Amino acid sequence: QNNSSVKVIQTTCPYCGVGCGIDVEVKALSLVGSAAHPANFGRLCVKGAHLLETISPEGRLLQPAINGQTASWDEATTLVALKLQQTIAEYGPDSVAFYVSGQLLTEDYYVANKLMKGFVGSANIDTNSRLCMSSAVAGYKRAFGADVVPCSYEDIDQTELLVLIGSNAAWTHPVLFQRMEQAKKSNPAMKIVVVDPRTTASTAQSDLDLHIKSGTDTILFNGLLNYLKQKEAIDRCFVLENTDFADAAFDAAEPYSPEKVSELCDVEYAKVLCFFEWFAASTSAISFYSMGINQSVSGVDNANAIINCHLATGKIGKPGSGPFSITGQPNAMGGREVGGLANMLAAHMEIENKQHNALVERFWSAENMVKTNGLKAVDMFEKLHKGDIKFIWIMATNPVVSMPNRQKIEEALLGCDTVVVSDTVSKNDTLKFANIVLPATGWSEKDGTVTNSERRISRQRAIFSPTGQARHDWQIICDVAAKMGYQKAFAFTHVSQIFAEHAQLTAFENNGERALDLSALADLTKQQYDVLQPIQWPVNKANPKGSSRMFMDNKFFTDNRKAKFVAILPKPPEQVTCKAFPLVLNTGRVRDQWHTMTRTGNAARLHQHTAQAQLSIHPTDAAILCLHEGDLVSLRAQHSPLPVILPTLISKNQREGELFAPIHWSKTWSSHVNITSLFTDANDKISGQPELKHAAVSLKKT
Ligand code: SF4
Repeated sequence: QNNSSVKVIQTTCPYCGVGCGIDVEVKALSLVGSAAHPANFGRLCVKGAHLLETISPEGRLLQPAINGQTASWDEATTLVALKLQQTIAEYGPDSVAFYVSGQLLTEDYYVANKLMKGFVGSANIDTNSRLCMSSAVAGYKRAFGADVVPCSYEDIDQTELLVLIGSNAAWTHPVLFQRMEQAKKSNPAMKIVVVDPRTTASTAQSDLDLHIKSGTDTILFNGLLNYLKQKEAIDRCFVLENTDFADAAFDAAEPYSPEKVSELCDVEYAKVLCFFEWFAASTSAISFYSMGINQSVSGVDNANAIINCHLATGKIGKPGSGPFSITGQPNAMGGREVGGLANMLAAHMEIENKQHNALVERFWSAENMVKTNGLKAVDMFEKLHKGDIKFIWIMATNPVVSMPNRQKIEEALLGCDTVVVSDTVSKNDTLKFANIVLPATGWSEKDGTVTNSERRISRQRAIFSPTGQARHDWQIICDVAAKMGYQKAFAFTHVSQIFAEHAQLTAFENNGERALDLSALADLTKQQYDVLQPIQWPVNKANPKGSSRMFMDNKFFTDNRKAKFVAILPKPPEQVTCKAFPLVLNTGRVRDQWHTMTRTGNAARLHQHTAQAQLSIHPTDAAILCLHEGDLVSLRAQHSPLPVILPTLISKNQREGELFAPIHWSKTWSSHVNITSLFTDANDKISGQPELKHAAVSLKKT
């Protein structure tokens, strides 16, 4: 049933962090990119364009279920509340956990976080965004004192140099990449540099490609920092007046001459030098980075090595300049705004900062305010595996497929007393471990907000009524909270009330010392929320129409308002190759699929570009192993008992000794391909982000 009284509904794409606006013609049931949305100006990529083909009652979860038997909502939520209470009473609040998702809307995220951190009294709520951008968050916090993306997409149109690092944006963030192509067309003098171990679709438009050896990003950017210093290309005034610890960072970078970088990164010397010269000579530069940087045991150092180069040259807070992490998910950013990570509180505040903690406790009238950080995703599943966590509620994500070390995740869920799964679809490998299944509404049925990679908050709006008995995630959580006795704090009857409370919290006792400030939206009525137009935070008295660029006043959010350089000591990936496991495995997305395919897998047209998972291998490696195109191969990793079997794609786009396979396929879609099962728990010590770009594997023709 659709909302046919309205002609066109403006909403936002639920896939990547570009956050494209979409206009849905309700009667004709068709969609186009919103011409007025500043993220896409009418453009859509193929995934967004085929969204309506993914909407079908077939394969949807329609009714709550308890131990495989259908149940009423009252029975299901009563049981969830009871199990939560019993587990907390018997084992304490840290024996329960929520594992949530960048697919949730900000309002869903807000109430889940409020329930756990303010009322259950545990910070064991983490999100699949941990797998996506937690290293970028930690990098920003170390450098700027807050999780702040400095730039906007409009900076692309104004830059002289655009550096893409560990990002195949042409496939993963297509509309953003189209904007880069357009900027290049409008200004042919603009240079594009791509830093990636693979030759990708993004390389086609580049002026320079650096096919660095996997896991050597910190060496490259230490080399750049050192070069900038040696060539006196430093903005001395900016560094002196607005930053700390530059000397330590320069000292750490000193061993990395261009020659050394060329040798260690295994890239031609001339290319290294050319990149360094271009960065030094440009008056503006943007460094875009995503999973290739973040999904590493050096993820946070990777981010800070890049940020160091921007601080050294003052290429930040100015048009066309800045370090710019691109988020993978539609609402990874909104989630972190309301404290979706186990080490954060709502409104970007810190759990272990006494002042922040007391402020949030007061604002929420919290009954059991958490005092210490919770478990990040990998550690959470480790504790689940050990039996220390007895209750887990998984919302809108499929960790059996997306987390590393599938066998361990399966064992952990099998051994857990209570597993609750809220999801929209039945094709989900995690679902079979659930004792309690809760059908949730999905894109086109939900109302709420998301925040894209450039801090822009946009509305997702409902087009259809919920399918079956599906309910909104925020309603399910509030229902459970009420049944636990917290009716007053969760008495929300409309999603706009949750957004208003979130905005009020960002403004509460905030004298400008906290970056996330939505004070100008704090009194938004339901009517105003309904027509809310895309807007970039902060949205406050000084910037009632939002803020496109941060740090224009060279003031950061650290104690002394100065940005911090971080001295980077490069370290190798955790898994090193050896005789038994001689090849490096890298993973990523293909153009037309999304995550574990629970949505895109339903659209026949989205299978045309890449019909199956394939293993890309360099021709020399293929020749050594006597492999021909399409041969089935078996991939093994030391820790994983099960091989992954898939056909080969012989490609010069790979470096020798390095393989690539897509992340999307799983048991649901084919019997032997779940590539993340070959990865270990290796993760960044600061951010907890798993190293999903570098595993040591062996390969055998089957
Ligand atoms: Fe959706 Fe991203 Fe494509 Fe835009 S670029 S239509 S947000 S998938």
